[in-house]
Amino acid sequence: MDQNLALRTADTAGGAWQNKLLAALPRQVWARVEPHLSAIHAQPGEILGQSHLPLDYAYFPLTSIVSIQYMTTDGATIEIAAVGSEGVVGVNLFLGGGAAANRLVIQNLGHIYRLRREVLQKEFSRGGAMQKLLLQYTQRLLAQIAQISVCNQRHSIDQQLSRWLVQTLDRLGSQEVMITHELLANTLGVRREGITESARKLHRAGIITYQRGRIVVIDPMKLKARCCECYAVMRYAHGGLTRLPSAARQIMMCPAADANPLAISNLQFADESPTPI
Ligand SMILES: [Zn+2]
Repeated sequence: MDQNLALRTADTAGGAWQNKLLAALPRQVWARVEPHLSAIHAQPGEILGQSHLPLDYAYFPLTSIVSIQYMTTDGATIEIAAVGSEGVVGVNLFLGGGAAANRLVIQNLGHIYRLRREVLQKEFSRGGAMQKLLLQYTQRLLAQIAQISVCNQRHSIDQQLSRWLVQTLDRLGSQEVMITHELLANTLGVRREGITESARKLHRAGIITYQRGRIVVIDPMKLKARCCECYAVMRYAHGGLTRLPSAARQIMMCPAADANPLAISNLQFADESPTPI
């Protein structure tokens, strides 16, 4: 749980500007918030919060990713959203709740800023720039949750794995991710054998290499080409695309189009911005 995390007041591999919400705060708001921020050195697998248990802090990832997971009564897990430097973990805190809605798991080694919930709630209640930023982000998070729900229901493990890898690499700004097949299976809510088979296909196609929990993407464009449309739809929702690629627009406007699924390779990314996800 959170109290076991190692706290650091320095060495945050950069600064708060790495989180896009914190970076967007006006100077006066930042001056009120900054004294209450503390940096966490996050370790993979650490738990920031559990479903229905009190959440004392909101978390603003810098270089780490937090996986928001649902855990079933038999202990199985599935990721319903992920939050990197584009967002904040703990939207419940400013939407009227005081507990985590789901399990919050650190995905990779990195840094996160945390802010006590009372400070977040007070700033939110002012109704100014921070409230606007947080509500806009909540809208994007809801879009992500909805799309991942679709992805889990409608798309193959191959497509889900490709989509997850591309999104994770976007957030990390890297071509390498440290995660075991078992953790990946728990994240995507599928059997480990399914992940192993899909990873083998990517390896045989010359797209990735993997060894001992380390996946290296050696052909990112081919990996994108294997994603389902969910990647483009979520990028658009997060502002990473200034307009939805035409093929994805057709998919969204025509529910029957999934009978003839379009690969991401058919989508045009000419207007991509560097915004992650
Ligand atoms: Zn999908």
